[in-house]
Amino acid sequence: TKITQYIEEAKGKTLFSIEIIPPMKGQHLGELVSHIEPLMEFNPPFIEVTYHREEYVEKMVDGLLKRIPIRKRPGTLGICAAIMQKFKVEAVPHVICGGFTKEETEDFLIDLHYLGIENALILRGDQEKGEERFIPKPGGHAYANELVEQVHAMNQGILLHEETESLPTNFCIGVAAYPEKHFEAVSLDEDMRFLKQKVDAGADYIVTQMFFNNQHYFDFVDKCRAMDIHVPIIPGIKPIATARQLEILPEIFHLEMPEALASEVRKCSNNAAIKQVGVEWAVQQGKELIQAGVPALHFYTMSKSDSVHAIASQLF
Ligand code: FAD
Repeated sequence: TKITQYIEEAKGKTLFSIEIIPPMKGQHLGELVSHIEPLMEFNPPFIEVTYHREEYVEKMVDGLLKRIPIRKRPGTLGICAAIMQKFKVEAVPHVICGGFTKEETEDFLIDLHYLGIENALILRGDQEKGEERFIPKPGGHAYANELVEQVHAMNQGILLHEETESLPTNFCIGVAAYPEKHFEAVSLDEDMRFLKQKVDAGADYIVTQMFFNNQHYFDFVDKCRAMDIHVPIIPGIKPIATARQLEILPEIFHLEMPEALASEVRKCSNNAAIKQVGVEWAVQQGKELIQAGVPALHFYTMSKSDSVHAIASQLF
């Protein structure tokens, strides 16, 4: 089932959904499953699974310093299959441009299709560690809109080097957006023109970056509608769980950390108290967003369920 169909069928009722991260290489799937399990009582129709590109490590091999590619969090595809089998919900893999040629992407999408996956969140991905800006793999896509075009073409039966007689894939296409602007964009207006390009290329829904001040989301949705972007815009929510996140989240994601939230966190003497503040803030955000009729609340769980469970218990 497509995400857009779930949203339509909900008829204005806000859905609950989560994003999870594959375990570090070498770790068991069991722990991740034990974090998803308690959240199933809130009936997420879909679970998104992030994709992590290779990172490079330098190692001496036979006396020579070599750059070796290592994927620290493999398993997106397998986790999607496991989730669908175990929980009977849609798994939505993230598909990134970084590190893939167009042919490799085509094959990956065909694998997803064979597994019965009908939704994919299409992203560019970030630059490699140590690089100043994103550099596509030779023969790969430079921006998410190009990858959206590829998936859309596959949905029409058009492959890179041949045409098929029937539809090879049937993906509902999601893309990312940034209510407070993507950090590389010179302005929000420019960033939104590129978002429009992704929607015009075939994106069916949008998931936003996290934000802690709902006004950013409301203003962003208004701007989208004014630009003729009419697809569902799902807000992403992340509950604060540590004091360090007050600094690192604005630094990594270039977003505003409201002073009212930061000062509550600073008053806390331990992590349990900080988590509680994070839960309360997210509940307030969630109440207002549900009131406004958002299609879903999408929680960045970081593969931990306790805060999200506490929030969802009060909202769903
Ligand atoms: P794009 O839409 O390609 O935009 C990237 C930048 O280029 C923007 O500044 C935009 O304004 C500009 N731009 C866009 N199109 C063009 C164009 N045609 N010409 C010139 N400039 C252009 N990363 C991962 O590695 N794995 C994940 O699983 C993952 N999941 C995510 C989920 C969500 C909901 C979000 C919000 C982000 C996620 N990310 C993930 C991070 C994402 O990959 C980065 O934010 C990345 O830097 C941008 O990706 P994008 O798809 O938004 O890029």
